[in-house]
Amino acid sequence: MTAHAQLEPIFIADCELGRGLFAAQAFATNESILRFTGPLIGLAEAIAKGDTEGNPLQVGSADYIDLEAPGVFGNHSCEPNAGIRNDVVLVALRPIAVGEEIRYDYSTTMWEEDVPGGWSMPCRCGSALCRGIVANFPTLPVELRARYLALGIVQRFIVERTMNRVGT
Ligand SMILES: [Zn+2]
Repeated sequence: MTAHAQLEPIFIADCELGRGLFAAQAFATNESILRFTGPLIGLAEAIAKGDTEGNPLQVGSADYIDLEAPGVFGNHSCEPNAGIRNDVVLVALRPIAVGEEIRYDYSTTMWEEDVPGGWSMPCRCGSALCRGIVANFPTLPVELRARYLALGIVQRFIVERTMNRVGT
């Protein structure tokens, strides 16, 4: 493969949640799908964006990436087929077929201690495993947190906080 990709590996299309990311090619487990890009913004700017389509991607205690297309169209699932490694690389967690929607678990990217009450949103992902709400990483069941950490798909600032709090 050269640096100049021949075809976009993903496309944007309508789904029951609005618009979403879909696979234009098959992806193998652990294969990179896309890199999230956009300008870095702070907490106040992220809050000002609210629950719009431009959900910023948290990459630090008060650091966010104001996501650009196509990454901004990545929807949440409580039973995701993709996850984020190294804060910005979306990878397949299992084989993904052409035409399948690609989703990750937003809770692997969220730990907003400075937001009063903590940010959350009702979940309509449709999975049989749906938790009904999307909220900060520590709200996940302990087994699920362990699984996501083992997969290496939790934002690095969250991993550091989790390690710092073991036994405390
Ligand atoms: Zn859900």
